[in-house]
Parts: sequence; structure tokens; C-alpha cells
Amino acid sequence: MSALAPTYARFPVEFVSGSGTVLRDASGDEYLDFLSGIAVCALGHCHPAVVRAVQEQAGKLMHVSNLFTNAPMLRLAERLVERSFARNVYFANSGAEANEAAIKLVRKARPRGDIVVVHGAFHGRTYGALSATPQESKQAPFAPLVPGFHAVAPSEVASAVDERTAAVLLEPVQGESGVHPLPPDVLRAARDACDRVGAALVFDEVQCGMGRTGSLWAHEQYGVVPDAMTLAKGLGGGMPIGALLIGERLDGVFAPGDHGSTFAGGPVAAAAANAVLDVVDDPAFLSGVHERGERLAEGLRELPRVTAIRSRGLMVAADVDAGAPDLARRALLEQRLVINATGPATLRLLPPLTVSEAEIDDALGRLAALLA
Ligand code: PLP
Repeated sequence: MSALAPTYARFPVEFVSGSGTVLRDASGDEYLDFLSGIAVCALGHCHPAVVRAVQEQAGKLMHVSNLFTNAPMLRLAERLVERSFARNVYFANSGAEANEAAIKLVRKARPRGDIVVVHGAFHGRTYGALSATPQESKQAPFAPLVPGFHAVAPSEVASAVDERTAAVLLEPVQGESGVHPLPPDVLRAARDACDRVGAALVFDEVQCGMGRTGSLWAHEQYGVVPDAMTLAKGLGGGMPIGALLIGERLDGVFAPGDHGSTFAGGPVAAAAANAVLDVVDDPAFLSGVHERGERLAEGLRELPRVTAIRSRGLMVAADVDAGAPDLARRALLEQRLVINATGPATLRLLPPLTVSEAEIDDALGRLAALLA
């Protein structure tokens, strides 16, 4: 019996500390973390710059609500605007919340409009985000969902868009489905279709954004610019923060009173995000993510039982012949390597963006032993 609600099938390991790519459990055993709290600890565990930013801000001012502004939040918004297509930023506390804000924004821009999403997508667990997540097992127990979501195959996105469409919502690189980069022509066709009818193109970069794929935003590699983009996960480097970046087409749609959150954009989480951005938003750092991602993908390709690799930067999936959940469990318990399974035959690796080549080779060695 646990005091925790049984919404997760948790692994039987409790971590007590971490530094960089290494996690330690209560008995002092060390684990190599190739999951980063599901793409959250972008700079690894307890990166000194993030710890310093959090400690300093926590000692100065922790919370004032959104009835006021605060310096770290304002600075973060200005930096995100500067480094993207966005005109302004709405802050949230998580990926699902950022997507809720995006859904409300595009619905307000085109009242009663439909939102086109694609099969395999994952946008979160709250009602709007869940309604945008066309997966029977996740949606069915919670019906009725929010109406007006229209799920199609990626190749059908453009033809699904018409005058009633408020938005197309896509992950440029799908994460939870097992690292599926959408084909560039799907993103380009979605852009054209949205332009044709005046709908909004929204990219969910909650998992693939913040340098994960080797560019600050995954969509930069596609050369397709959205009208809005959601972020969370790696943005705070371990502190809970989400963001909705709002571009020109949707600028001015939200007015005071339309949306809000007590905690969102709090100074401590925003200070952490500024510290993460200091490190990640650097061309040399980002090309290092790309190169180390290639090393990891190449190494995985050589392993027994691996049937396919899909990767963008340090967002990597390896399909195996069978039994991925059991392999992820054995990787943890036998090899002290933290990874996860996104399906029956897919392992996902999301190491910290700061992972070293030696750690990649170490992880590959542990996986080789596991798969032998
Ligand atoms: N969007 C994407 C692409 C995600 O991968 C996730 C989480 O895995 C979410 C949204 C939901 O984020 P959160 O769990 O922070 O609500």
C-alpha cells in the first residue's frame, strides 16, 4: 500500500541525489541517467548555474502572483521573444498547461473553430491537452472530452484544414510516440494550409524544444515558422515552468482576464530557466548536442536486437525486436542505466544535453551487455 495515488507504475528505485548525468540511490549506488526526468534536466542534475540561480532567487523573492511582474519572468520573456518568432509570452507551470493556453488562444481567435491534431501525438493529461491527444487508452476512460479536435494522419493534415479550422497543433518531433520526427513536407503543408484559411499553426515543443534536437527550437531545422509554440520540460532545467510563445497572427487575442495561473512565471522557476538558456542558447553548445546525438545514434545502431533508430540531436529512440518495457526495467536494475520504453518495442534515450562522449560510450556498453 502506498500513500501515492496509483497513476504511475513506478520503478522500485528511489533516488536521493544527482550531479550531471549521475543519479544516486539511498544505498549509494550510482546510475547513469539517460532520461533526464523525461527531457527535463537539460543541464543534468544540480548544474551549478541552475542551483545558484534558484538559491539566490529563493533567498530574495519566491512568489508575488501575476498581479505583479517580476524581474526573472520579464527577462525570460524578453529573451524568448528575442530568440524566436514570438511577440510575447504567456507563462504556465507545465507542458499540459502551456497547451491549454494555446488551445484557449486559438479558440478565441476563431470562435468554435476546430483544432487539427495528428495520430500518435501527445500533448498532456489535462482535459484540453488530453482531447488533443488522440490515443484511445488515454482518452476513453475520461469521456466526454472537449469537442472540436480532429485527428488525422500526418499526410492528411493539409486536406483536413478548412475555413472552420482554428489551428493545427503538432509536435515537430513526436516524443511520447517514440521519437517520430514529422516529415518536413507535413510541416510545410500545414503552414500553407493554415495560411490559406487564416488558421494558426501551433508547435508543441514541450519535449523537442530548448536545444534537445541540436537547435534551440526543433522547427528551426524544418524552416517552418509557427504562429505559436509551447515549451516546458527542459525550459526550467528541473524547475516547473511552461510557456506559450505567441506570434504576430495571434498577438492581441488574449486580453486581461482571459487566462491565468497563480504560480506561473514565478521568479524562482524563471530564474532557473534564464540559467538554462544562458548555457543552451549558444551555437557551440547546440552543435555539441547534435554531434553527441549522432554518436549515440550510431552506437545504438551497432547493438544486437536493435531494429531501427530514430533521432534528432539527443532525442533518440531505438526499436528493439521485443520486450522494451522489460529491457528498460533491466537496464535500471541490472545495468544502472536510466532509460524508458515508449511502447512494447521502443526504448527512448533523452540524456542531459551536457552528457559527455565518455558517458555515451559507457551507456552503449551497458546496453550492449543488456542486449547480448
Ligand atoms: N507535450 C509534449 C510534446 C510532451 O512530451 C508532454 C509530456 O511528455 C506534454 C506536452 C505534457 O507536459 P507536462 O507533463 O509537463 O504536462
